[in-house]
Amino acid sequence: MLCPACGVAVFWVWNNKGERIPVYVDEEGKVTPKQEGTDLTGADTDTVHCMGCSWKGAPKKQSRP
Ligand SMILES: [Zn+2]
Repeated sequence: MLCPACGVAVFWVWNNKGERIPVYVDEEGKVTPKQEGTDLTGADTDTVHCMGCSWKGAPKKQSRP
């Protein structure tokens, strides 16, 4: 998945500590941490934020319009 606003492929999500975790989103809307081994437990993967601009949204809605 690419950002619908600017085309960047890297996003971030909030984790349960209030930190920004860099993630990728695949074509099915699955959120994968950019850094292997990063724990996404408790992270808000329902909303992804673009690294390149201020866009944010739900990964699944974007992949399946
Ligand atoms: Zn963007």
